Amino acid sequence: MAPSRALIFLGPPGAGKGTQAKLAAQKYGLAHLSTGDMFRDAIRRGTPLGKKVQPILASGALVPDELVMGMVEERLTQSDCARGFIFDGFPRTLPQAAQLDALLDAKGYGNPLVIEFCVSPEKLLRRLAGRWSCPLCGTIYNEFNAPPKIAGVCDRDGAALAQRPDDRFEVVKDRLAAYERQTLPLSDYYRRRGVLEVIDAGQAVEEVGRQLDSVLRCADGADGRL
Ligand code: AMP
Repeated sequence: MAPSRALIFLGPPGAGKGTQAKLAAQKYGLAHLSTGDMFRDAIRRGTPLGKKVQPILASGALVPDELVMGMVEERLTQSDCARGFIFDGFPRTLPQAAQLDALLDAKGYGNPLVIEFCVSPEKLLRRLAGRWSCPLCGTIYNEFNAPPKIAGVCDRDGAALAQRPDDRFEVVKDRLAAYERQTLPLSDYYRRRGVLEVIDAGQAVEEVGRQLDSVLRCADGADGRL
């Protein structure tokens, strides 16, 4: 079996990393590790971690690095990570990236492959503030470019669509500001190490998927690890 592989999907909220990570994880048999989903799950279940991070997520700020690292380290011990994994929304700060490097080294992984999803700020605002999802089946809609057939209702199961509290316009602006300040330096960090690939994520989902496939196929050809 091919050795496992660590992929990192980098990009602002709304760049479509989550959608592409879900598709690629299925296609390549990797675990999809979204730190945002893990926090939302902890909040839903009312765990001690969930209680701590709930106000932080609601404000659009970043969770302190030590809480994120503890959660990620624990998650990597689970069996579905054995063939490799895609980080979606992690790392988000330079200290997280440095600690992840040490963690991957200790676990015997090589360099991660980092894919940056680039989109213009105007498109991001429209995508995020227009995003609604079905609380039952998870289908994501966008009132501007992928609306449901009936406004506010899921096409698949008829459930009332919900907006993530942090997708409200005022919070979206804070999340994009947090990204610029804390996460954008990560692309330089990984570019200098020669492990960064950039994708134009302003295109339709299928086209972004094609670009991603071709990057992953090249990486596979280069070192046969995917
Ligand atoms: P996301 O779904 O990736 O946009 O994440 C939603 C929220 O979870 C973010 O706005 C942060 O509050 C928190 N979060 C997710 N991942 C991280 C991370 N790697 N570092 C710090 N905070 C995070």
